[in-house]
Amino acid sequence: MTETPIDGTVLVVNAGSSSLKYQVLDPVTEEVIADGLAERIGESSSRIKHWYRGHEVVVDGALADHDAAIAKVLELFAADGVDVADSGLAAVGHRVVHGGRSFFEPTLIDDVVRSEIERICPLAPLHNPANLVGINAVSALLPEVPAVAVFDTAFFNGLPDAAATYALDAAVAEEFAIRRYGFHGTSHEFVSRLTSETLGRDYGDVNQIVLHLGNGASMSAVAGGRPIDTTMGMTPLEGLVMGTRTGDIDAGIVFQLSRVAGMSIDEIDVLFNKRSGLKGLCGENDFRSVRERVEAGDEAARLAYDVYLHRLRRYIGAYMIELGRVDAIVFTAGVGENAAPVRADSLAGLENYGIEIDPERNAVRSGEPRLISTDASAVAVLVVPTNEELAIARQSMAVVRRSA
Ligand code: AMP
Repeated sequence: MTETPIDGTVLVVNAGSSSLKYQVLDPVTEEVIADGLAERIGESSSRIKHWYRGHEVVVDGALADHDAAIAKVLELFAADGVDVADSGLAAVGHRVVHGGRSFFEPTLIDDVVRSEIERICPLAPLHNPANLVGINAVSALLPEVPAVAVFDTAFFNGLPDAAATYALDAAVAEEFAIRRYGFHGTSHEFVSRLTSETLGRDYGDVNQIVLHLGNGASMSAVAGGRPIDTTMGMTPLEGLVMGTRTGDIDAGIVFQLSRVAGMSIDEIDVLFNKRSGLKGLCGENDFRSVRERVEAGDEAARLAYDVYLHRLRRYIGAYMIELGRVDAIVFTAGVGENAAPVRADSLAGLENYGIEIDPERNAVRSGEPRLISTDASAVAVLVVPTNEELAIARQSMAVVRRSA
């Protein structure tokens, strides 16, 4: 039993290998009280950008590790006269990338959970170890506040076997837990629920395609609240063309790069994850720059954009068939929420399928969920801003309430 008050704020932590994003927010009023990012942890040029109730502080100076980063962040709060531990913090919610076959829902963190997250680190060697370091660093400094792990894979736990299984030797797949897990689940769930609310319909009645297009990108087909397919697989590398990731690629290319180019597995890993996608094709992964260059007639940027769109449209078509009936197509995340040309181009020429974007509605810039299809369009097309921090805060608070 916890004695922590169950109404209050939540500290949401998203720890990467050399970064730490955090937010303190009220999950009921949705008010963001503090927000920040520590970057280049472990280097001499570390920097924290900390925003608290309207003012921003930037602190430069070496942060040896995540413990040092968290300690510094808590100092920044204290400098504002806020002792985070005493400020009504009811929970800490940690984003954990991979839940493997062990975690299907937000989970209160204890020693058993911690060691299970550690055990599944080989499934996400780039992400889970960093998440764990974040969990340990925060709990060392805020031992009294219950901590909850929210898994990026959880929403896709119920994927049908046909969508989750690779056509790989079944014994090898079983032994090494190789299957399609899916990622960005917190966002796909948040956005698909909000889409139903925006349409004024029950979640269980709406068939939708969700396009989470950020620097990382994924798409899901959600049938009546249940995901039936998603583009990311065993790792976040599969599927759509992303800022720096290949997305789908012939696995034979790995053999070729190893045998003919003499690259090591680690080099290929970096090539596929960090040097490919839009960046690999035109040198830039920021979508705004890619679009500006397309407008200016740059050929490399044009090809990058065309490859990006080709993959998107291929999956949209596939998911229309899988769903059978599509009620809504929803765009979210940095590119999906802001890049009107991507929305228009990805659904261009689909009037015969009942999909028609209204150019004026599409051009509106807003932070609110909104409809961008014409009144005649049989399929509703929407922009629904994602908010993973709010989703993590709400889910963490719900877990803490249940365990109180
Ligand atoms: P996210 O990972 O969701 O933060 O999305 C980051 C991506 O969104 C980057 O590639 C940005 O360039 C892109 N983005 C943000 N604003 C815009 C915009 N106004 N137009 C096009 N892309 C944008």
